[in-house]
Amino acid sequence: MKCVICGSFATNYNEAEQPTCSRHTKEKAKAPKCPVCKHETVLRTGKWGSFWGCRMYPNCVGTIKI
Ligand SMILES: [Zn+2]
Ligand SMILES: [Zn+2]
Repeated sequence: MKCVICGSFATNYNEAEQPTCSRHTKEKAKAPKCPVCKHETVLRTGKWGSFWGCRMYPNCVGTIKI
């Protein structure tokens, strides 16, 4: 699990239920834009941890690694 803000090891969750390190529990990560279609992404959790997935899924499968 990685901090959504800095990418270091996450030990906590912020108020938006995003994994964060101890330094960033008070911050919320802003959803980046999908690299494929430029729509917003949403935080998803998969087998290998959290990632930003396109809001238009399954029509678009753009993802951004955290
Ligand atoms: Zn952090
Ligand atoms: Zn997309």
